[in-house]
Amino acid sequence: LAILGIDIGGTKSTVGVADRSGRLLSHKTIPTPNVLGPKANLSTILSVACDVREESGASIDAIGIGCGGPLDRKAGTLHKVSNLPGWEGLCLTAIFTEEFGVPAYLDNDATAAALGEAMFGAGRGIDCFIYFTISTGIGGGIIIDGKPYRGCGENAGEFGHAKIIPDGPPCNCGDRGCLESLASGTSIARIAREGLEAGAKSILDEWVCSYKDVTAELVARAAAQGDAFAREVWSSAMYHLGIGVANAVNVLNPRLVILGGGVTKAGDMLFAPVRDVVSRRAMRALAADVEIVPAANGDLTGLVGAIAVAIKSFLDDGNA
Ligand SMILES: [Zn+2]
Repeated sequence: LAILGIDIGGTKSTVGVADRSGRLLSHKTIPTPNVLGPKANLSTILSVACDVREESGASIDAIGIGCGGPLDRKAGTLHKVSNLPGWEGLCLTAIFTEEFGVPAYLDNDATAAALGEAMFGAGRGIDCFIYFTISTGIGGGIIIDGKPYRGCGENAGEFGHAKIIPDGPPCNCGDRGCLESLASGTSIARIAREGLEAGAKSILDEWVCSYKDVTAELVARAAAQGDAFAREVWSSAMYHLGIGVANAVNVLNPRLVILGGGVTKAGDMLFAPVRDVVSRRAMRALAADVEIVPAANGDLTGLVGAIAVAIKSFLDDGNA
């Protein structure tokens, strides 16, 4: 059994081929900036998928696709996805099945990542855990009794849109004060930029030509060097992230919270404050049950997730 996995994002996408144990035979990450639109990006992804398949030497049995929601998993189509403008209504499964002649399966990228961690990562053997991806946005996945919990409309797990500050900053979803508007990579960069524009003193001023170039990664780096402004921006974002995790812990009583996505590359600068907030702000018995760990699949969590979706769906469909 060989699986082609595709993790589609608004900045970059990753394509790879794996065997049934989730072991990657070949993979590649390519820029797919959403300004180029779906046509150009899909054609890049399809051609890289052909290269990756050739490099793996495998013949593909099924395809798994992960991308931001909301989407219609069964129909294989996207709704209006905020980081993929113009993709609304596209049937991704049909596009890939037509190209490769094998079944394709679509799932929300965060649910896919959670399933990937359940099958091949930090969630192996854990019945009840939740997954947060903290990158451009904040997404979530829930595994209960070893299976993804999807909700009645299949959009459960939107931890990024938990209300943290009821009248806080505007969020991509149209509401205000969501976790995503306070602690995603994009939001950390925005909060820093707004502070700098308002005249805050920071080493960040010397590191970038334009405040538009400030990123969450630079804020973390400046904070690590002791820059007072960056520390304040970073620790406030980590406080909000911890509150978001504590809320989810109180609702779901998971054994494990797995944190993945680009912002988690900050390592202990992220995990230490989040663990601290959860230990103090989640209810005591629930806080005692939970461990907070990084995603085992690192940068490839989304890709491994897309592959896990295809393996599980392909086998569930009665294939050997
Ligand atoms: Zn929101």
